[in-house]
Amino acid sequence: MLYGAIIGDVVGSRFEFNNYKKKDFDLFHYNCSYTDDTIMSIAIYDACRLIKKEGYEVYEQAEQFFINSMQTWGRNYPNPKGGYGNSFYYWLFNDNPKPYNSFGNGAAMRVSAVGWMFDTLEEVEKYAKWSAKPTHNHPEGIKGAQSVAGAIFLARTTHDKKKIKKYVESYGYKLKSCNFIRPGYQFDVTCQGTVPVAVEAFLESKSFEDAIRLAISMGGDSDTIGAITGSIAEAYYGIPEELITECQKYLPEELLEKLKFEADYKADMWSYNKCAICIHKNCPNKDIITKEKCLDFEKEPNISIFEEYL
Ligand SMILES: [Mg+2]
Repeated sequence: MLYGAIIGDVVGSRFEFNNYKKKDFDLFHYNCSYTDDTIMSIAIYDACRLIKKEGYEVYEQAEQFFINSMQTWGRNYPNPKGGYGNSFYYWLFNDNPKPYNSFGNGAAMRVSAVGWMFDTLEEVEKYAKWSAKPTHNHPEGIKGAQSVAGAIFLARTTHDKKKIKKYVESYGYKLKSCNFIRPGYQFDVTCQGTVPVAVEAFLESKSFEDAIRLAISMGGDSDTIGAITGSIAEAYYGIPEELITECQKYLPEELLEKLKFEADYKADMWSYNKCAICIHKNCPNKDIITKEKCLDFEKEPNISIFEEYL
């Protein structure tokens, strides 16, 4: 749920200010580190978890959770590699923070968990918007968050690249081939300059690792393009276990502890009565269901059946 973005971030971190426009680099390297993309992806996850638990349905209720979570995580990790954008850094330490009309790619790079934790495309879009609004309330910022979260949702529920492409294009993004974009592509921290590039890298990829390599090879804001592409690629391909293990070497103990919450999340989904896609052989429900709707649940009430899909 979060390692796709985190791996893309860690791998891309050493190329942010030193672009490398080819795919033949060492995936992990001693210069790699987690950056703000990792910290804020975890923050958004934490906020969503509490919002789901409390059942908040209106923005005014949910807003404070997003603000608190981002400020808490950001203040605990004030100096990740590459730092934070100036406006966001000011916002992080402001006790009365206000949105600052940003259309930076920060809204899209942190939204990964939203694409996983909500059960319909409409809900994913709603909470993606809410996750962006406390800082990135410019229409392009909101659009960036919604399109990436929606792409993640479609990747994990339909596994259909054509659908994902069409969905992202419905936001008005023009998707051009990586080979067309790459030569002239420069450092660009806007949503509109980052999201279509990251999505295209995913669409052209052949595997999770290939997606990350393709994303980094585009240049630009490498850690963030890596995080966005990685978050969609994870939902589509899954992640080879060895890449997660390797990535964990670049994360501090405290973050690793926090990341164990992926397991908690699965338990949470269960307890909130929201579960994943049923893969029971005989169950006719092939869409998102609750355990009550699963016809085989009585026979096999084993959470691992659902975990397998997650
Ligand atoms: Mg970063």
